[in-house]
Amino acid sequence: MAKILVTGGAGYIGSHTCLELLNTGHEVVVFDNLCNSSKIALERVQALAQKPLNFIQGDIRDMQALDQVFHDYKIDAVIHFAGLKAVGESQKIPLAYFDNNIAGSLCLVQAMERAEVFQLVFSSSATVYGELNQAPYHEEMPLGMPTNNYGYTKMVVEQLLEKTALANPAWSIALLRYFNPVGAHKSGEIGEDPQGIPNNLMPFVTQVAVGRRSKLAIFGQDYPTLDGTCERDFIHVVDLAKAHVLALENRLNHTGCRAWNIGTGKPISVLAIKNTFERVNGIEIPFEFAPRRTGDLASFYADSTRAYQELNWKAEYSLEDMLADSWNWQRKNPNGFNP
Ligand code: NAD
Ligand code: UDP
Repeated sequence: MAKILVTGGAGYIGSHTCLELLNTGHEVVVFDNLCNSSKIALERVQALAQKPLNFIQGDIRDMQALDQVFHDYKIDAVIHFAGLKAVGESQKIPLAYFDNNIAGSLCLVQAMERAEVFQLVFSSSATVYGELNQAPYHEEMPLGMPTNNYGYTKMVVEQLLEKTALANPAWSIALLRYFNPVGAHKSGEIGEDPQGIPNNLMPFVTQVAVGRRSKLAIFGQDYPTLDGTCERDFIHVVDLAKAHVLALENRLNHTGCRAWNIGTGKPISVLAIKNTFERVNGIEIPFEFAPRRTGDLASFYADSTRAYQELNWKAEYSLEDMLADSWNWQRKNPNGFNP
């Protein structure tokens, strides 16, 4: 059992990971500025786990606050989710993304070094493979040039962490490259709750289903894929959360910096998401085809063999589970965590 600091632990993936950590016997300290999340998520995590966690409201760019956390709690390892993640917004306000995601991560790593806590799991993204590579992506591929500023921040932080681990063998760092996280905990108590108009496909679909949006726009129908719409590797957020616990446990016994893809390895088209959602949940999703969205790649999916071989991780939830669980969350919480 270890005591884990979870930055961004109140967010979508963070809250599911906190629950898995508590369920596997770890202690959890969440550090989050709540800029894109709600404390209610953490209350529900504690109710589901029937165990308490510690919460500190703070910003990862606040050195003093971080030092205080490492002083107050005997932290064994850190899982670092905190950051901004809206691709479109990152093109409009790049400096906010560089500050939160790059400078924020730097602050955290410096505070860890001062506190002599050297185990870290970082939320990276498949976007680091950029345009250079062809799917399925595997970890030995060179990093590409991400198509947007958000992806750029992930690439920079990965490189920064690799160099840090190279310089000091005390470090043990996991880079988890997520593909497309969707779904929610089976209870429907926690889930994805984007602010404003969702950028991502899945919350848009569930908001159409619940009547908050009139129809889905499918961006592009002339891609070189089977049905002409983009293909992505959708991964259930609970499978993803479990990968964090396994990566963390791996890091407690290894040194160096290692990347793992976390995806199912199965490309699923945008149209298939809509059609399968309708079939699984018995709800029609009105839609129209719209022009391609800038920066989208046609097909994007993982080779997750390394995660299976080294972490003993593989995705267990089906596409049907993902779509049923996303809908269960949205149906039970039409306005997310807002009353
Ligand atoms: P999220 O927005 O739900 O969670 C991020 C959390 O970090 C939020 O609770 C937010 O309040 C907090 N936060 C942001 N900036 C902070 C700061 N400066 N200090 C303290 N807290 C801060 O997002 P998510 O979907 O749970 O994503 C978690 C991580 O995974 C992010 O780093 C994201 O870039 C990465 N990721 C997400 C996806 C995805 O599709 N959801 C894919 C790949 C990678
Ligand atoms: N997409 C769409 N309509 C939407 C949102 C997304 O057609 O309202 C498509 C998008 O063009 C991409 C896929 O769904 O091909 C997944 O997009 P998302 O933003 O969820 O994740 P990404 O793969 O870009 O990280």
